[in-house]
Amino acid sequence: MSGNGCRRAGLAQLPRRFDLVVIGGGITGAGIAAEAARTGASVLLVEQGDFAGATSSASSKLVHGGLRYLKSGQWRLTLESVRERNRLLRSRPALVQRLRFLMPVYRGARPGLAAMRVALAIYDLMGRSWDSRAVSAAQALALEPGLAAEGLRGAVLYDDAQTDDARLVLCLLQEAQAAGAAALNYVRVEQVLSAGGGVRGVALRDLADGAGGEVEADLVIDAAGVQATSLPGAPAGGPALRPLRGSHLLFSLERLPVRRAVSWLHPRDRRPVFVYPWQGVALYGTTDVDHAGGPVRMSAAEADYLLEGLARQFPRLGLGLDDALASFAGVRPVVAGGKADPSAESRESAIWSAPGWVGATGGKLTTFRVTARQVLAEAARQFPRLAPAPQYAAAAPALQHRGEPFRQWLRQAGDSEREAVAGTPYCWGELRWSARCEAVLHLDDLLLRRTRIGLLLAHGGAGLLERVGMICREEMAWDQPRWQQERARYLVLWRAQHAPHPERDA
Ligand SMILES: Cc1cc2nc3c(=O)[nH]c(=O)nc-3n(C[C@H](O)[C@H](O)[C@H](O)COP(=O)(O)OP(=O)(O)OC[C@H]3O[C@@H](n4cnc5c(N)ncnc54)[C@H](O)[C@@H]3O)c2cc1C
Repeated sequence: MSGNGCRRAGLAQLPRRFDLVVIGGGITGAGIAAEAARTGASVLLVEQGDFAGATSSASSKLVHGGLRYLKSGQWRLTLESVRERNRLLRSRPALVQRLRFLMPVYRGARPGLAAMRVALAIYDLMGRSWDSRAVSAAQALALEPGLAAEGLRGAVLYDDAQTDDARLVLCLLQEAQAAGAAALNYVRVEQVLSAGGGVRGVALRDLADGAGGEVEADLVIDAAGVQATSLPGAPAGGPALRPLRGSHLLFSLERLPVRRAVSWLHPRDRRPVFVYPWQGVALYGTTDVDHAGGPVRMSAAEADYLLEGLARQFPRLGLGLDDALASFAGVRPVVAGGKADPSAESRESAIWSAPGWVGATGGKLTTFRVTARQVLAEAARQFPRLAPAPQYAAAAPALQHRGEPFRQWLRQAGDSEREAVAGTPYCWGELRWSARCEAVLHLDDLLLRRTRIGLLLAHGGAGLLERVGMICREEMAWDQPRWQQERARYLVLWRAQHAPHPERDA
């Protein structure tokens, strides 16, 4: 995004010196940039793909304490996350919404109802809210009629929250920008530059036009997710990472009718899995498997695992991959702890530093502000002026979701802009606004992250492309060959990464 919030600026328009350069435009980098810009520092964030183009658009989209972390004794992480969840619910109501969970409990299952109630009492205590309660089997079935009834002893209900992960990243970047930061997508750090025993800047390549350039900075922050610790020229000292892939399937709510989140233990390995209504579809996940590199997409084995879990909990629905609308997969940047079971690895973040350099990886979407403030506290050891503000930033209400300028524009726009994109919670004006104002460079930026239409409609919304094409041609001056190229790129990418059938469509 450029200084005026519209269009994408190029490398050529950038100053050659910043106080701080952040590498990575996922939630970690965006959170750091937003917090750093508040200190008055000059900040540049660069992202080699689209903003939130990697893990931060492929999470389960839960803003949660993580009930399961209690079981593995990660008390601090759970407490921190629950507090963050509550802060975000209060400060970003347009983006983070309460989500009621129902967890059925079956005869002979461990943990049983009594243990679940104790765990939830602790969870409630941590969140200082008393939302959880137990219900009978009959009540559970009345609440969620599709549940497997045999052996059902009852259920527990509790609250967490959900968001749109890609939009959250974009909002943070817009806040950073409003405070004076620059943020560029499709700009890669090719080399970390050092001199006199410390990092002094980065060499950049603008992937949109091929231009290269160097930028100097007092401090460079590595927020490159799974690529953190492997940037060319970066100082050593980061943790060993264990990239863990997680995949999800999306179904229409007609095919998988849930009214709230339902979470249960997968019959194969007793890991918690869940399904919940998100943007008008049912979002179901997730897996937790070592990612050996290569394309990030759901494997056939993960698809089998997910379907097996669904068949156990919703046996009457008879769901298969043909019923799914789409899939998506992401890779968690998890700090390697040497555990045999991927799910037993800690989800805490790691922060490390060297002269002119701070790195941060691991952690969760939910705790982005905690990470950002820890990173700035570490940065302040080298440059005291970068110390984080004593108070958490209040989210700027005007920037939540698409913000007030969008709402004003939409009010006076024609009816066709307010028309709903059928089968989605979006209106056509949102596509136009994003194309005009939200640093869209490729069609997939628009359909997979500025809006999530490509995940909500069968075949990635291919049936809408003609009308989308008109908007792109008008707003981004794409000529016919460019549009054809973008259309083909989007459809190939969708089939490779988001089609529900891993083998048939790859
Ligand atoms: C399946 C799954 C489910 C999850 N569910 C949840 C959840 O429900 N709740 C929750 O709180 N957390 C969840 N998480 C965790 C959360 O999504 C991640 O912790 C978080 O998104 C990581 O953000 P990040 O910014 O560190 O990494 P990323 O989002 O991957 O961002 C790093 C960015 O750095 C960029 N980059 C790398 N190298 C360069 C370079 N040389 N130059 C420029 N840019 C570069 C990459 O392109 C990338 O976009 C989940 C994760 C996964 C995978």
